[in-house]
Amino acid sequence: MAATTDRQAARERLFSLAKAQIDKLIPADEGVPLRGQFFADFEDQADEFERTVCPAFLEERVALSAAAQAADGGSCPHCGSDRVYLESRVSRVELLTPHGVMPMSQQHARCRSCDRSFSPSGTGPEPSDRGTALDARGGEGRDRGGDRGVRHGGGQAQS
Ligand SMILES: [Zn+2]
Repeated sequence: MAATTDRQAARERLFSLAKAQIDKLIPADEGVPLRGQFFADFEDQADEFERTVCPAFLEERVALSAAAQAADGGSCPHCGSDRVYLESRVSRVELLTPHGVMPMSQQHARCRSCDRSFSPSGTGPEPSDRGTALDARGGEGRDRGGDRGVRHGGGQAQS
């Protein structure tokens, strides 16, 4: 199922997926015996829950993030100037996650004062410490890792 781009629709889809799994794994009917006997069985059920809900969660979260497009470039993170403009190009980037590859787009802004480009703040995911998230600040990284786990689909920002 394709991701939605509306927050309420995303919530409903995830609630629905989670509820269906919980209904299956822990039926509300007390007369229905719970499946599994050993902890390993419960782990298998947790894996099943994860495989059902987590990919959809990431898909929806990425879609909601992609929907948050910047209206202007803000100020330059390199020199502080507000003489910035949004470039028309949009990069396709892919996030590598334990749940599969998540495609998304990334906006670029350029500074007229120092001619450096950057990603407008508030767009795209922030770097994580697990090597799976996009470096949203043009390759500088935050604490570690830089752009590990990110495949740029061309048009990579100059910095
Ligand atoms: Zn600048």
